[in-house]
This record gives sequence, structure tokens and C-alpha cells, in this order.
Amino acid sequence: MSNDYPAPGLFIAGEWIRSGRPEALPVLNPATEEQIGLLPVATTDDLSRAVASTRRGFEAWSRVSGFDRGQVLRKAAALMRERAESIARAMTLEHGKPLTEARQEANAAADIIEWFAEEARRTYGRQIPARLPGVMQVVFKQPIGPVAAFSPWNFPINQATRKIAAAVAAGCSIILKGPEETPASCCGLVAAFIDAGLPPDVVNLVFGHPAEISEYLIAHPVIRKISFTGSTAVGRRLSEIAGRHLKRTTMELGGHAPVLIFADADLERAVQVLVAAKYRNAGQICISPTRFLVAAEVMEEFTARFVAGVKALKVGDGLDEGTQVGPLAHDRRVTALEALIADAAQKGARVECGGNRLGNRGFFFAPTVLSGVTPAMRIMNEEPFGPVALLASFNTEEEALAEANRLDVGLGAYAFTRSSRNASRAINGIESGMVSVNHQGLVFPELPFGGIGDSGDGKEGGTEAMEPYLITRFSTHLTE
Ligand code: NAD
Repeated sequence: MSNDYPAPGLFIAGEWIRSGRPEALPVLNPATEEQIGLLPVATTDDLSRAVASTRRGFEAWSRVSGFDRGQVLRKAAALMRERAESIARAMTLEHGKPLTEARQEANAAADIIEWFAEEARRTYGRQIPARLPGVMQVVFKQPIGPVAAFSPWNFPINQATRKIAAAVAAGCSIILKGPEETPASCCGLVAAFIDAGLPPDVVNLVFGHPAEISEYLIAHPVIRKISFTGSTAVGRRLSEIAGRHLKRTTMELGGHAPVLIFADADLERAVQVLVAAKYRNAGQICISPTRFLVAAEVMEEFTARFVAGVKALKVGDGLDEGTQVGPLAHDRRVTALEALIADAAQKGARVECGGNRLGNRGFFFAPTVLSGVTPAMRIMNEEPFGPVALLASFNTEEEALAEANRLDVGLGAYAFTRSSRNASRAINGIESGMVSVNHQGLVFPELPFGGIGDSGDGKEGGTEAMEPYLITRFSTHLTE
């Protein structure tokens, strides 16, 4: 085991449990496939204690003022910044992403927490003018209750932060099921909240068998709200359970982001932005640019420039200086990508670069570009969630928009053009929750991150992000 990988654990009712559970899961370094840690698995008794704790946590925390909640969040943000280096190192060891990206993620978590610290005191209601004299009608917001949240491994702390910070800012308590593949950085995040003075019952952290935990928590009467980030298939399953119990949900699910490159685009800029955006986190991002729809006039030039940019990327261990693309986070992605690329190649796609696993130790995958892709290929329909860009040309704007909107998912989308007309056609014509034109700018905490259709429902940023954690009530008071 790696001696600088912090032992991950469960955090239940204010107590860290790092061993002593009947079952534990191995945590691997995806760059070496070595076991670096052991993660205790929550038992039903642990879940029951977490629920009792979160009930107590809600009773106390929901009475704390928004101002005071914000103060605790601010301290948690400061601790995240102070600890960014050690949390980032743990994240790179367990996830594989380059250390620079892990550092950015730890610091971005602090930004997100600060955004919610500010929002904590802005859960405004309103007064509605009454029909009758002497009547005062007031609408007010209150925290919805204890939350069960499920966060994935691709951004081990960013995804968890959006859930914990919003819930805590709104006055809710939360039980987070963190990512089993990448637990230690998520533990670091929870520790920052606790060390900042958050009462321990307000946050519980569990890991284990996802289906067992989600079925237990979603159905439990104490839990009032569900938040999940992950695949559409799992989101659908959890929504079904939540629907049966009439629980409110936020679902951040998969995408398959289209990128429209118009003939008048600044190709140099487009390539610079898109190589960085596509291969960041080895492409394991729900808003990763994926279906590149390129105007036929510039297809050849764009392809040549883009492929040259991709070939220059340095793949390696995330801890090594200069690494730009780390390994995939686990072997499931390697197997999935190999199958998707083989299917595409067999149906006529051209492998411009990459296309295969690298080496035989670690889950490295070559940054890949496929051209000549068609809707008949699985990869044009299933989210690759890896370092693969798919290039197809278009002749008319209608054709490009039809392909962009062909799938039921609609999360991120991109367009590159110098014309405001094309930009506005893309912004209005692409069916997605978010569109970024001429740059990558979708993820700041003040922006309402989220998708439509099969990409889910609910926002995890912006002023909209508090609403899912609040209930709206009103009083009408005859004062005379
Ligand atoms: P998966 O569908 O098995 O799991 C996705 C996530 O959901 C994981 O974090 C997993 O722990 C969790 N999960 C699975 N079953 C669950 C259950 N019954 N209850 C609660 N949580 C459950 O797939 P995977 O191999 O881990 O990831 C691959 C796919 O997941 C990708 O292709 C991508 O589409 C999607 N994904 C999306 C995001 C995102 O940011 N939207 C993040 C991670 C994964």
C-alpha cells in the first residue's frame, strides 16, 4: 500500500471508521494498478445510524441562521485552499488525473463552497399583496429536510462539493454516498467541513455497494431529497425508486456534447480550446466535447490541426511533471472504449490517431480521434466517457443542428464561429442545458449547471442551485 495515500473511511454520527467493517474494497492507483488502500463497506447498521444522525443534524442545523451557516461554509472553503496540495495528491493517486488538474479541482471546490456561503443568506421569500384589508400574505422558504446524495468518481470532490455545499447552505443535513473508486479526496472534503465547525451530524459519508445504499436511503422516510450524478441508466433507476416514495430529485446524468465548427470559425482558437477541453480528465467528463460537427469547407484543415494538437499531448502518470493526460480511472472504461472503437472502425470510421490502450500496466488509453463517423456507430449514440473525439462533416446548418439534436441527452454543447448570426442559431437551435460559444466556460459556480431530457433535471450552480433544497410555504394572517 502507498504510505502517502490517506486511509479512507466512513464518517457516521461524527466518527471516522477507517477499518473494522466485515468487508472492505481495494482502492487502486490506475497508473500502476497497485492497491493503495482499503475502503470499509457500510453495513445496514451503519446506514441506520447515519439516518438517525442525519435526522438529528437536520433538527439542529435547520434552526441555524443563513448568515451563520455561511460563516461555517467560508471556513470550509479556506481549509480546502489550505489543504489543496495534500487533497490533490490523494486524488491523483486514486483517480489518475494530472496533479495540476487535481489542484484545480480542490481550489474550485473552495470557490463553489464560497458561492453557496453567499447564497445561504439569500433564500428570499416574498410578500404578496392581499385582496382583503388587514391581511398579510408571506411566502417563505425552508430547508426541505435530510438529503441523500450520490456522487461519482470522475470529479471525486467537485461533484460531491456541489451537493454538500448546496444542502448545508440551505439548512439541510446530508448523507453522501461517495465514489468507491476515489474515496480519500472525498474524505478530505468532508473533513474540511467538519474541521470548519459544521456539527458532525449534518454530514454523514458512506461508501459500499451503491445499489444497496441507494435503495435503503431513497426509500427511508427520514430522507426528503435525492441528488445523483452519474449515468442516465442509473439515474433512471434511482428516479423510479424516488418516484415511488414521492421524493424530490436532482439528476445530473450523461451527455454526448455536440461541437459545431462553422466555416468562419477561428480554427486556431477552436483547436486550442477543444484539445484542452476534450482531453482534460482523460475525457471522463459529462460535458466533454464529443461529436465534432465540422463545416465541410474546413474539415480537412480542422482535422489536420486538431490531430496534430492531440498527438502532442503527453500521456503519463498524473504525478509526473508535464503529464497532460493521465490513465482512465478504472478498467471498465478501457474495456468500454475498446468495444466502442472496434465497432466504429468495423463500420467504416477512420482512426486518425490513438484508438488503443497504451502499455500493459495502468489503465492508459491513447488520446484518440475518429473521423468519418456515422449515426450507425454505437459511439455516436453512447457516451464514450473517455479520450475520444468523433469528427463528422456537415454541409448545411440544418444538417448540423439535426445531428446535434438527434440524441435524447442534452447537457453541454459548443459552437465556434466568428458570426453572431451563427452563434445565435447555435445558442437557440441546440437542445441542451448549456451552450458555450468560442470558448469553454460552462462550469463556474455562479452558472446554472445542468441538462435537459435524458441528461437529467435540476441545476447544480447559480441561484437556481439552492431551490432544490428548499420548500416553499406561505402564511396568510388577518392582522385586524
Ligand atoms: P455506472 O453506471 O455503473 O455508475 C455511474 C455512477 O453511478 C458511479 O458513481 C456509481 O457508483 C453510481 N451507481 C451505480 N449504480 C448505482 C446505484 N444503484 N445507486 C447509486 N449509485 C449507483 O458506470 P461507471 O462505469 O461507474 O461510469 C460509466 C458511465 O457513467 C459513463 O459512461 C458516464 O455516462 C456515467 N458517468 C457520468 C458522470 C457525470 O458526471 N454525469 C460521472 C460518472 C459516470
